Amino acid sequence: MDLIERIDRWGAVAPEATAHISDRKTLTYGQLRRRSDALASYLTERFGDDRSPIAVLGHREPEMLIAFLGAVKSCRPYVPLDTALPQQRIDKILATSGAALVLTPEDVRQLPESQMRCPSRGLQGDGPFYVLFTSGSTGEPKGVIITLACLEHFVTWMLAEHRFTEFGEVFLNQAPFSFDLSVMDLYCGLATGGTLFSISRDLIANPKELYRALTSSGVTTWVSTPSFAQMCLVEEKFSETMLPRVRRFLFCGETLTPQTAGLLLKRFPRAEVWNTYGPTEATVATTSIRVDAEILKQYSALPVGRTMPGSEIAIVNGNREVLPVNQRGEIIIAGPNVSPGYLARPDLTADAFFQYRGQRAYRTGDLGRFRDNLLFFEGRIDDQIKLSGYRIELGDVEANLRAMATVRDAIVLPVIKDGAAQSLAAFVLLAARDETSHFNLSYRLRNQLSERLPAYMLPRKFIFLDAFPMTPNGKVDRASLAKSL
Ligand code: AMP
Repeated sequence: MDLIERIDRWGAVAPEATAHISDRKTLTYGQLRRRSDALASYLTERFGDDRSPIAVLGHREPEMLIAFLGAVKSCRPYVPLDTALPQQRIDKILATSGAALVLTPEDVRQLPESQMRCPSRGLQGDGPFYVLFTSGSTGEPKGVIITLACLEHFVTWMLAEHRFTEFGEVFLNQAPFSFDLSVMDLYCGLATGGTLFSISRDLIANPKELYRALTSSGVTTWVSTPSFAQMCLVEEKFSETMLPRVRRFLFCGETLTPQTAGLLLKRFPRAEVWNTYGPTEATVATTSIRVDAEILKQYSALPVGRTMPGSEIAIVNGNREVLPVNQRGEIIIAGPNVSPGYLARPDLTADAFFQYRGQRAYRTGDLGRFRDNLLFFEGRIDDQIKLSGYRIELGDVEANLRAMATVRDAIVLPVIKDGAAQSLAAFVLLAARDETSHFNLSYRLRNQLSERLPAYMLPRKFIFLDAFPMTPNGKVDRASLAKSL
């Protein structure tokens, strides 16, 4: 039974069970099955042999799940897009993905619900399941292809490690569907007949409403970025009293600090806290560790854990030679969870993907080391950063700034506090002298940039210079710019 059949089985054995809750709207497993079948039939009829991806543009609507499954049941990958993205970014992604269609929740709603079984089953293991777009260093988002086999390798591991109770779990869905962290709650939830409890961005922006929603959520498995949990912990009532059923916190995507883990263990003494690590290119997470009092006592920087069975992680030097234990180098990941590459970008694929000991492998650009048989993440080789869990290539923001007529050159750097990026700062050389105040210039640039980039990629601070400081070998001196922040 593959993952799709597994999800569909709930539609047959427990059609009234709740698959998804979002903004008080619910979707049952029966509806999910029937309506995704109907959508698959429609897509097959409309597009025949054309297996181009189906873009799905929405936020947390139940129809998003129907659209995802409808697409894959018709053997087409889906490209999840969040409505928070500016139109220009969406247009770029659509152009790269070659999507046959952009489906919105409204489109899915209008499709007649049919009892018809989907005629064309049979997505093969190596068939693309979804394509997720992430920030690319040249300003062009890159689409990571994840196959059914990649996803099944990941979900099988998660299910074995956590032994989720069938029909007994409520998974928190905090990450938008356009980020791969959401794949953890979405497919662990659907594979086990659980309920996905989505919190919309309106709720996240309104703490009072958010805590109210959490209180009534019945969440048993919390999946979020550490940043989001940190934000929730500011409220003292965020504890076992608010979420009495929570049994585990699963984190991925950025550094989990001992402070956050320690506070969670104190406020939720009956829950487990897990740190997991991995890039989108290796399907959500490849390593994991349960962080308990013992681990907290032993390590001041938390490990990201042990590698999932069937996959391999090695630490390599610049020549891709494997380094001994305890030496710092680049983390490479090999195994069935590694993506076949970037959609329509053989150049980027050849740079980042290769064969390692007979398996597909990915060069993460992350620095790390093995110690005590555990992997430790120790930063980046390049200019990719994490800001509130969002992956950002600084070069992406720079390229979009440079594309503006008023900007001659730009360097973007993270503003670091307590070892983590808090915001972005842009150093800008203007194309022509401008007497407008810096305040107004910043406002204008930020506004223009917001038409091209999502809000989390916008610099908070703009600093206007006549020239960049240079290193003795003629490169922009980023270190001295960073010091000036
Ligand atoms: P994304 O593709 O958005 O999931 O981002 C992947 C990157 O996030 C990784 O390459 C790491 O740089 C970072 N990352 C993921 N998990 C962790 C973790 N547990 N601790 C620290 N950094 C992480």
